[in-house]
Formats: sequence, C-alpha cells, structure tokens
Amino acid sequence: MAETKGRFGVHGGQYIPETLMNAVIELEKAYDHYKNDPEFNRELSELFNEYANRPSRLYYAEKLTKALGGAKIYLKREDLNHTGSHKINNVLGQALLAKKMGKTRLIAETGAGQHGVATATAAALMNMECVVFMGEEDTKRQALNVYRMKLLGADVIPVTSGTATLKDAVSEAMREWTSRIDDTHYCLGSVMGPHPFPTIVRYFQAVISREIKEQILEKENRLPDAVIACVGGGSNAIGSFYHFIEDKEVRLIGCEAAGRGIDTFETAATINTGRLGIFHGMKSYFCQDKYGQIAPVYSISAGLDYPGIGPEHANLHDMGRAEYVPVTDEEAVNAFEFLSRTEGIIPAIESAHAVAHAMKIAPTMDKDKIIVITISGRGDKDCAAIARYRGEDIYE
Ligand SMILES: *Cc1c(COP(=O)(O)O)cnc(C)c1O
Repeated sequence: MAETKGRFGVHGGQYIPETLMNAVIELEKAYDHYKNDPEFNRELSELFNEYANRPSRLYYAEKLTKALGGAKIYLKREDLNHTGSHKINNVLGQALLAKKMGKTRLIAETGAGQHGVATATAAALMNMECVVFMGEEDTKRQALNVYRMKLLGADVIPVTSGTATLKDAVSEAMREWTSRIDDTHYCLGSVMGPHPFPTIVRYFQAVISREIKEQILEKENRLPDAVIACVGGGSNAIGSFYHFIEDKEVRLIGCEAAGRGIDTFETAATINTGRLGIFHGMKSYFCQDKYGQIAPVYSISAGLDYPGIGPEHANLHDMGRAEYVPVTDEEAVNAFEFLSRTEGIIPAIESAHAVAHAMKIAPTMDKDKIIVITISGRGDKDCAAIARYRGEDIYE
C-alpha cells in the first residue's frame, strides 16, 4: 500500500524534505477525515452556492456552433464564479479544511495573480491571515492583481530568486511552510506538488465535471463526445475530466500552451516537449534543458506558464485516456477574439487555448456530436496584453 499512496502510475509521490513530512501527514489525515464528513461537505456546498455562485452554467453556444458548422458546443461557465475563475473552488475547500485543522494563516503562490486573489478572498471571508508569494517579474506584469490582494488584506511578498516567476514563488511558499507549520496552511493552487495536494485539489475541482454531467444529461439526455479544457498545472482540466474518466466514449482533451510553437524554446507545452523528472515534490513530466534542469517556459498566458503538469494528467497521458494538444499564442489570441465576437463572452486567455482547439475539431465533427469547453475564467484581466499583442497600447 505504502508504495502506491499518492501515485498515479509512476507519477506523483512525495519528494519532499524531512522537515515537511509532518505538515503533509497532518494535512492528509485531516483531508481523509473531512472528505467523508457530512457537515464539512454541507458547509462547502453552501460556500460554493451562496458565495461562489455555483452551480456554474452549462451554456449552449449556438452562434459559435453555427459559425463553426459542426459539433454542437456547450461552454462550462467557470468565468461566472466569484473572483472570475475556477480557482475559487479549490481555495474555498482548502481554506475551510485549514480552518477545521485550527490554522489561522494561509500562504499561497501565485503567477498571474488569480490564485493569489482567490486565496486572499477566502482569507478575508474566513478571517484568516494571508501571505502570497509572487515572482517579482509577475508583480510588475500584474500590478492590478497585487493591488486587489492588498485590498483584500493579504501581504504580497515579491520573490526575486531564479527567474522571479511562478516556479520560484512555489519554491518560496514551500520554504515558508517548512518554517511555520503550526498555524499555517499552504494553499496550493493546482493539482501539483507532493501528495496529498494533487488529490485534494482534484477533490474540490471535481465539482466542475459533476455539474457538467448532470447538466448535459438534463439538456441532451446523453454524455458529450468530447470535453476540452486548458492545462497549466491542470486543475480546471482534471476538474472537468474527473467524472468522465470511466466513460470511455467521452474524449478528454487537454490544451497546453505552445507559446511561439513546440519547435521553439519559447513554449510551456509540458506533455508535448517535456520529459520525466522530479520537481516541487512530485514525479511528472517537466520542460527541461539538456542537463535535466527545469527550463524557462513561455506563454502569452501567465496562468499556463508553468514548466510541469499535475501527476494525474501525466498518467492519463501514459494510459492514453486523455489527449494533450499544443495551442500557440496566435491560435489562442484568435480564439479569444472569435468567442468575444460570436457569443459576447470574453474568455481568459488560458481558456481561449481550449476554445482554439475546439475551433479546429468542431468543423470536422458531425452536427449530432457534442463538445463541452470549460471556460476556466473571464478575460478582463487579459485585455491589455492582447491589445499589446495586436500592436495597440490601450493605456496610451
Ligand atoms: C490559473 C488558471 C489556469 C491554469 O491553471 P490550471 O490549474 O491548469 O487550471 C487556467 N485558467 C485560468 C482562468 C486560471 O486562472
């Protein structure tokens, strides 16, 4: 049993220093207890429904469907959640768990700032202290989110080590947790890191596929032919896939950020360009240089700009149960604009990667086929960057 705990095939595990073992064991015990506790789950659904605006809509995108001329397309509207993305599902779950464990302080890493804002929000709601680690480069690129976190009462600590981006913020948050486990919970933002994080985060995000399944059965009386989601660490994707894994007729498609292309060094497409490795406490696939060092990664989308992928996805890939396809910046920006114009829905640039792939495959599918695309977040945060990509400066 011990050797399979927290494993997804060969992936996952707990590659952490001795000093973190106690914290991780305490967390695992609490999770094992509370996931079966009716009172915990009742409080969580109340937070989801009353505070986060769940269940999120499954919207039939009729104009997009007609414009593409093939499969019928539904959008799972995680962009309509409070704080504007799926991140709130995980954060409310972990904050509630931390509270039950008697913790009074939440720490988190953040890249673009979405997870940091969600964590600061939950901390404000639950009257907890909050410290967010953010690469110094990212604090400059995402000044508005830094302000939002501070407004919500969080301390934002700029991280200057390494490339001063997301992976360095994760390393710093882990270091901080090691030095202060008594009152502090590390609220990790995706299905990554050492066991039990990939399992815990998946548990809270699985609400997405639980709802999709109910909603599509109600609307169409059958399962979809494909579920498509973007993949950074992989939390919105595993949330969208989880309750369909046993339904072999449903294609599960994860869209990775190819950046300027998988034949360039400016990419973040982990499954398509990475190799097996160990980093941030887990075994999985990572973008690496020829010496096995973690490679700098690039994507126009800060939320997908991570050099690894969650271990459960690595295993779904190995088993051939899910497909992982690369989508370039250019394709994602085109999809960002296309969905905005056809449906009046501005998706996060992360989610636009999933839309872009649907735009490729929907026209090749029959009209009686059904695709569900998870819109993981809303795109207001991306407008300035997309304008810049198109050669416009909206702050001129
Ligand atoms: C953070 C983020 C992602 C990427 O994270 P996953 O863990 O892969 O889901 C995708 N979309 C949005 C809107 C995000 O904020």
